[in-house]
Amino acid sequence: MNGRARNIIIGLDGVPYELLKDLSDSGVMPNVGALIQKGTFRKMSSSIPEVSSVAWSSIITGANPAEHGIFGFTDIPPNTYRLSFPNFDNLKVTPFWEKDNNSKHVLLNIPATYPARKVNGVLISGFVALDLEKAVYPEDLIPNLAEIDYKIDVDSEKAHRSLELFIKDLNRTNEARIAAYRHLWVKEWDTFMLVFTGTDRLMHFLWDAYEDEGHKHNADFKNFFKRIDESIGEILSRVDDSDNVIILSDHGFEKLEMDVYVNTVLIKGGMLKLKEGAASNYSNIDHGTKAFALDPARIYINLKDKYPRGSVDPKDKKSVIHDIIRRFENLLFEGTKVIRNIYKKEEVYRGRFMDMAPDIVLVGNKGFNLKASLASGEIFSKGVFTGKHSQHNAFILINKKELINIPEYPSVSDVIGIINSLNGGGQWKANSTTENVPAGTARP
Ligand SMILES: [Zn+2]
Repeated sequence: MNGRARNIIIGLDGVPYELLKDLSDSGVMPNVGALIQKGTFRKMSSSIPEVSSVAWSSIITGANPAEHGIFGFTDIPPNTYRLSFPNFDNLKVTPFWEKDNNSKHVLLNIPATYPARKVNGVLISGFVALDLEKAVYPEDLIPNLAEIDYKIDVDSEKAHRSLELFIKDLNRTNEARIAAYRHLWVKEWDTFMLVFTGTDRLMHFLWDAYEDEGHKHNADFKNFFKRIDESIGEILSRVDDSDNVIILSDHGFEKLEMDVYVNTVLIKGGMLKLKEGAASNYSNIDHGTKAFALDPARIYINLKDKYPRGSVDPKDKKSVIHDIIRRFENLLFEGTKVIRNIYKKEEVYRGRFMDMAPDIVLVGNKGFNLKASLASGEIFSKGVFTGKHSQHNAFILINKKELINIPEYPSVSDVIGIINSLNGGGQWKANSTTENVPAGTARP
């Protein structure tokens, strides 16, 4: 970058604005607290839907999902009912580091960057990554990572057996991440991006421990964030005032009151039919199905010309969408409205891949965790998670106050533009200037 400031980008997966503020104010995160005092701290909106693969893809490209092509952790390609799992190969626009080959980049644990590919620097993929060997560029780093027992993700299965084992694994995985960042810090780079993803896992299983001071894991919850804060403090002590430090999350989090099964709503309403006696999966979607949902709440109309057993004539699409919207608008749990926002595809998405976009996306009201499983017989139930993602309360924190052209309430797709303006513009061109959140959306 030739004498220009370096960019240090630290991601805290899923961490909401209020939680960061609370843990800073209460002294659990003093380094972050000091940065909030001296820098710029804003609430940020996530992608729609508010899942990591979509949100991080928007963060690293500046593009809308219909431009970068990542709409969720799963997809069903047209002309099939086959569930596919999009990864980095499916990202249809180039991330910032591939547009700036003159600079050196260290990229550690960014979700949805698996399999790793060549970069002018280092890339170690974040989740979902099946095989560490394919998650590391250049390959000669693999022995170093093996030495520190580096793991990409915690074994969440452990949490289902024992929260103690889960916390142990979470801390161990985080320590290895910290060791990896220290190992990579000494390399030559202009941009260093590191994402802590254990935060998301911790909050899914132990949000209740955060809210309840008397919870037996309350200290474990705070200690995890304390450790993250210590690492941030260490990083801050290693940078110059002229460097840009950007700390951000991809989506927010809140207490999970109830899981809500979107496909069960469609099944009970006669709009989704599965072959009788067959397994509850997408390949068994039967004739007569008008719509189906993919996680967390992306609804696709089962169009005649788009899917093998499509049953909706394109001319009837509008009225089917209308019918679905009415059903979810009126969905109540013990008198409380379940759905916060219902977006039609045109309201949320803009880009070359509109055909792949869901026709409707639902965002849940506070506490309602929307899921798409075909196998739940009930619309409402409560599983093991105590925390859930939220769309509107991610955050961005920057170590600079002046010279920042930052929207009052930015969205994840604005991040590239913000970093660009910190660098005086022109370094990393955003792929799209369209916001994820349409005008008129309720803002917090
Ligand atoms: Zn999560």
